[in-house]
Amino acid sequence: MEADRCRAAGADLVDLAVGEPDFPTPENIRRAAIEAIQSGFTRYTPTGGITELKEAICQWHRRQFGTEYTAAEVLVTCGGKHAIFNAVSALINAGDEVLLPVPHWVSFPDIIRYAGGQPVLVPTEEADGYALRAEAVERAITPRTRLLILNSPNNPSGAVVAAGEFRRILELLSARGVFLLSDECYSHFVYEGAPFSAGALPGARENAIVAGSLSKTFAMTGWRIGFALARPELVRAMMKLQSHSTSNPNSIAQKAAVEALAGPQDVVGMMRREYQRRRDLVVDGLNRIPGIRCSMPQGAFYVFPNVAAFLGRGGEDGRPASSAELAGLLLREGHVVTVPGEGFGAGGHLRLSYAASMRELQRGIGRIAEFLGSLGRA
Ligand code: PLP
Repeated sequence: MEADRCRAAGADLVDLAVGEPDFPTPENIRRAAIEAIQSGFTRYTPTGGITELKEAICQWHRRQFGTEYTAAEVLVTCGGKHAIFNAVSALINAGDEVLLPVPHWVSFPDIIRYAGGQPVLVPTEEADGYALRAEAVERAITPRTRLLILNSPNNPSGAVVAAGEFRRILELLSARGVFLLSDECYSHFVYEGAPFSAGALPGARENAIVAGSLSKTFAMTGWRIGFALARPELVRAMMKLQSHSTSNPNSIAQKAAVEALAGPQDVVGMMRREYQRRRDLVVDGLNRIPGIRCSMPQGAFYVFPNVAAFLGRGGEDGRPASSAELAGLLLREGHVVTVPGEGFGAGGHLRLSYAASMRELQRGIGRIAEFLGSLGRA
């Protein structure tokens, strides 16, 4: 990776590309894992996860979102990505169309194609903060549409789909026999209003799959625990796939996950408040740079500024022709690591993560302002 080469050459980089919390896993969760090891809880578990964890997921989900899932509707997976992979693999046959709102998380198109499906990109508007609207879904549905993957709060835009719009979308899909896969990995990092799960909507237990994750909510990215909530027959289909691929999620991490869900929750609120402070600083700092347009994300820990004003035709006018080129220049000359919008299906943008300290964020914004100032607008 180019950033590693720059670092190896001695550059002092500000890294705003990382997609994971900079907080440590809370102490009580770590202790639960140590206890699991000491007590010998180190063997295979049931493929779909231990009952204690399935029950803890249902109870936590009920307390947090008002849902009514039971253990037969839960599959414990090796991270949220695994839940998404299993769900797409279980549902999609060759030639099925899968609706994917843009901008989208980088892994979705490849997961869909791996299952033989066809990603169909659904536009969102910058003026809506990139939040998906039911009308856009309606326009994209065809007789071959099998699934919509909706990630709210969104990586990379931070967009949050309001509960009413979610409801309209689910009603529309259900009426057309299309499933909803709701990726809720950032559910607890919302800055306006309370956390929301599509699982609480009428009809969701029949027509939706919720993919959840402990990675971001509890700063447990390396532990690899996520879950899928779905109809029992879908859970069984996904479990079959899991039993012939990964087997059970790590036994020790499962015990740690029980503690995360059943234990004190105050650390989640602490992280949320800190992310909000950082978001406000970053959005304000970026919007002060002439030429940048950055909408206020309502969730997750990313901003997705529009940098089209700095792009040119490449070569002849000496300006980067794409945000990928711009990100490369910003890395080599400005020493800030960002992710270009192309991988998210939205060129002309950069993704910056604010899961970094205030000091790093301030340094990063200062460098971006200086670099773009020297580049000048097209
Ligand atoms: N979904 C989105 C949108 C993500 O950004 C990520 C991780 O970055 C995941 C799912 C999967 O996270 P994990 O597999 O760590 O639970």
